[in-house]
Amino acid sequence: ITPWTNEYRVLFARPGEMTDKLNPRVHYIFSGGYTATIDNHGQQQWTVVTCLRESDPISSPSQVVIADEASEENIARLKEWVKSFAPDILPLVPEEEFTKFFSRRTYRGAVVECSHLQMHDWIALLGDSAHSVLPPTGEGINSGLEDTLVFGTCIEENPNAPFPLYEEKRKPDIDALLEYAIYLNTLVNCGAERVARGIFIVLEAQTSESIGKQLFGPLGVNRGPYRDIIASWKTKRAFMLNAARVFSYPIGFVISAIMFIPDLFKSKNVHSKPRDTTLKSIV
Ligand SMILES: Cc1cc2nc3c(=O)[nH]c(=O)nc-3n(C[C@H](O)[C@H](O)[C@H](O)COP(=O)(O)OP(=O)(O)OC[C@H]3O[C@@H](n4cnc5c(N)ncnc54)[C@H](O)[C@@H]3O)c2cc1C
Repeated sequence: ITPWTNEYRVLFARPGEMTDKLNPRVHYIFSGGYTATIDNHGQQQWTVVTCLRESDPISSPSQVVIADEASEENIARLKEWVKSFAPDILPLVPEEEFTKFFSRRTYRGAVVECSHLQMHDWIALLGDSAHSVLPPTGEGINSGLEDTLVFGTCIEENPNAPFPLYEEKRKPDIDALLEYAIYLNTLVNCGAERVARGIFIVLEAQTSESIGKQLFGPLGVNRGPYRDIIASWKTKRAFMLNAARVFSYPIGFVISAIMFIPDLFKSKNVHSKPRDTTLKSIV
């Protein structure tokens, strides 16, 4: 069990209120969270799921996710932040909701991996009981539905012993999906590595068969096996991420050097005039 490094809190729009600018059937995913409609007693309702990553700096607007004081400053920060990634939902959110948000509980979860999907031909695990991922994988419900599909074919193929067949057919895909989930869940504290990963995400998304397109985008209808989709993503990662590191690490090193040189200089020349201003402006 690997706890999520993300924490979430939901902001609700008015029930039944839609906008022409957004398709209620689409689950929009952003770096600050995601938006989706829910069924609220028969009425569609837009929600904004805001996300704080443990690695986010204290100055990040995402810190409102765990703030519990509905102060004017926090409310303004929340509005500004949501406007930056989900501007079309903002007009649908009632004013009092921006206050309620701060008293609503946040939630976390865990990536759960099981060593087996069946035990002694007696019990089989499907859906979240077999594997639990995290929201950015976009594969919570899809993976469970696919388990049932695979399980169904196993019953047809071998009605007397479907469980071991299910394990044999499904485990490699679930292992691949969990490997991807663990990668997404891993905290990156080094700035240069974060930049490299950001470049990799942007480059990979441009490819015709990107992981996003294949998992929950237009190519999702092909229901390609996770093991193939994630193997191709790993190959692209090996090239693109390392290429991005070739740029980001030297630049990170130069920036760090520029930031640290003044301190070294100050400690060696305590009587000299500080040169902070010039160097800071270079940075
Ligand atoms: C807050 C949140 C947001 C999510 N958002 C998304 C999303 O946007 N997209 C996505 O794809 N996935 C999302 N997921 C994940 C998704 O909900 C799960 O992957 C999916 O519901 C798993 O389906 P399941 O049938 O395996 O398990 P569940 O949906 O958990 O169903 C298990 C059922 O078994 C019942 N149960 C438990 N114990 C017993 C018992 N002893 N006897 C009888 N019944 C029992 C439970 O009450 C429950 O109804 C989200 C999960 C959470 C928690």
